Formats: sequence, structure tokens, C-alpha cells
Amino acid sequence: MVELVVLKKRLGPVLGRHPWVFSGALQKIPEGLQNGEPIRLVSENGRFLALGYFNSYSQMAVRLWGFEENEEVDQNFFTKRVKKAWAIREKYLDQKKNNAFRVINSENDFLPGLVADKYANYLSIQFHNPGIRRWQPEIIKALQETFQPKGILIREENKVSAIIGEIPEKVEISENGYKFLVNLKEGQKTGFFLDQRDKREAIKKYVFGKKVLNCFSYTGGFSVYALAAGASQVINVDSSKEAMALAEENIKINNLPLEKSEFICEDVKKYFSQDIKNKFDVIILDPPAFIKDRRKIREGIVGYKKINELAMAALPENGILITCSCSQHLPMRDFRFLLSEAAGKAGRNAQILESYTHGIDHPQITSFSEAEYLKCLIILIS
Ligand code: SAH
Repeated sequence: MVELVVLKKRLGPVLGRHPWVFSGALQKIPEGLQNGEPIRLVSENGRFLALGYFNSYSQMAVRLWGFEENEEVDQNFFTKRVKKAWAIREKYLDQKKNNAFRVINSENDFLPGLVADKYANYLSIQFHNPGIRRWQPEIIKALQETFQPKGILIREENKVSAIIGEIPEKVEISENGYKFLVNLKEGQKTGFFLDQRDKREAIKKYVFGKKVLNCFSYTGGFSVYALAAGASQVINVDSSKEAMALAEENIKINNLPLEKSEFICEDVKKYFSQDIKNKFDVIILDPPAFIKDRRKIREGIVGYKKINELAMAALPENGILITCSCSQHLPMRDFRFLLSEAAGKAGRNAQILESYTHGIDHPQITSFSEAEYLKCLIILIS
């Protein structure tokens, strides 16, 4: 295996098992390395540090996927990782009620660059860099062995690049016992926001007999739970007509009262420009990432602050705000700070009752805070 030396002064992150090694942390990178080449990292005095794969001559040169010195990178290597990842989900997610989850969460499941989501009998997977793509045959085999899927869809950016087996137009999944139809080929992200499972469950305690405004409702994830928990009214607002249609179907297939639902296909900002003061007891804000890259941080913060301020101002005494941000470049601390500013502007008290990040199927390696993107706070407004 190709051996690369990590400079003494740059050992810290590797010792803390951070999964990225930058080119500047390496003594020398020989020419002619192929993307995906297995790498053994050692210290300047030859001590074994980690295993990884080469991905680029610039920036993130090596991504780590192991800390056992004698592990070979072969079929078994990938099968072992897939099975280890599956074991977490199998053990901690009620399998009778859930058949859709992220089965491989990239670095956090020791397969950097690979994301795999399971939707009932189908898998949707994405190779995020050329290095991991080199191992596609081994990875597919490991996934097939573990899950025996009827079909695997391979995504690239936001389009389908290949299908192995077959993928139906809509796949019915079960989440916490609720049914959802998912469009794997054309849906946003990989079809469904699996990362919100635990937050959807959490909102149930706040909605009985309440009027709920679900902003950025997509295919009605939060709405199904709210209706199931006895909300008196659920208004869905989203700019996507397709998502809206699926939200309606999802409410129907769970035998929930469609007459208590309303679907408004509109920009949330526009919806908020009308007078909604005291019209809702609970407001859910789950917008798309307002901060797509570092240069958009300021602009994004302004956007988050504004919608949260409007929602806080609209809620009655003891109203509940469920507010999310999936921007990776906005850490929880900063999200909380902007919410405090929004509350100040709205002239309201804001008490955090619950605080969430990802679900259990999105494990996070402690060192790898870069991967934490989702934040959700449940806030009591008075
Ligand atoms: N809460 C959803 C996921 C939301 S994803 C769930 O639990 O499944 C973000 C959604 O925001 C997408 O459905 C997208 O269509 C919608 N969206 C993006 N910009 C919008 C805007 N300005 N106004 C309304 N909806 C918007």
C-alpha cells in the first residue's frame, strides 16, 4: 500500500480521527497516484496512523476510512463497513415502523464520499468524488449482499446517472409507522428528507387541537404527523407544485382528514406578507439551505432572521415555533444567536424547549463537526 508521511506539526487532526488530511499536512505526495488509491498514513518516525484513500493533489488529499493497521482494502473491507453501518440502524430504529433511512453517511460511517439511502426495497446512492467512485463495483456488491434491493439508483448531483434493476415511479415507505410516497427519480435531495424523522415525531406533543402552519412543507412530512396527532388544521406552504400534490396523497394514504388540510403553492416570503397574526398556534419553518457556500453567510443569516422574526411576531402567547436550518455553514451557536436577535426584533420571549440535530441514521464522528448541517429548535413564544 502507498505510504504517506503526516508532518509532526499537523498530526493533531489525524490523531483525533478527523477524516480529512490536507495535502499541506503530508511530507510528500508521489506523482502518478490514481484517485481512490489506498493509502497508509504514518508519522515522521514511522508509526502507523490510519488508512485512507487518495483523492486529489490539492486540498483534501486523503480521506480516512480506517484505523486498523492490517486491514486490506478488498471486497470484505467494504462489506464490513456496510454491515457495521446497517447494524446501527437495525438496532436503534424500530424496524417494524421504519423501512427508510440513510444507511451510509459518508465519512461518519467510514466510507468518505459515499451516501446511500434505503427506501423500502430500493437504494438511492451517490458517489461524491472520483476516489470513492473507483470502488463502485465493490460498494454495489456490498450493498446488494446486505440489502438484496430490487433496484439501486445512482445519483450524480441532482440527476439520475444509472439504475441497476428497476425503480418504480413512486416508492411507498414507512416512517415511524406513517406511510409516505417518495419519488426517487425526481424528488428533491434523494426523494425524502429522512433527516427529519425524529423532529417530525417530536412535534406531535405540541399540536393536539392546534392550528399548524407548515412552511416549506415539501411532501407533507410534518403535516402527516401533525394531523395524526390531532391538529385541528394544517396549512401547507411550498413553492413546488409536485411536492404539494404528493403531500396531499400522503395525507390520503394515511387516512388522515384531508378536510383539515390546505395546500398553498406559494413563496413563503409572499405568504408572510399578509396578516397572519394569531392565526396559528404552531409554526414550522424548514426552509432549504439559505447558505449554500461561505460567501452567502451574511445574506443567508438575514434570510433566516427575517422569516423567524415574522413567525415569532405572528404567534400568539404560548405559541410554538419549530425552526430548522440545514445550512452547513451555520453552526448551532450562530443559529441560536440569530434567533435571539429575531426574538428581540419581534419583541417576544423565546424559550428553547427542545434542540435537535440529525436523526440516528445520520451518525456524526465527534471530530467531524463540518458534517453537522441540520439544526432544529422547538421554541415557546410568549
Ligand atoms: N419540511 C420538509 C422538507 C423541506 S425541504 C419535510 O419534512 O419533508 C424545503 C422545501 O422548501 C422544498 O419543498 C422546496 O420546494 C421549498 N421551497 C424552497 N424555497 C421556497 C420558497 N421561497 N417558498 C416556499 N417554498 C420553498
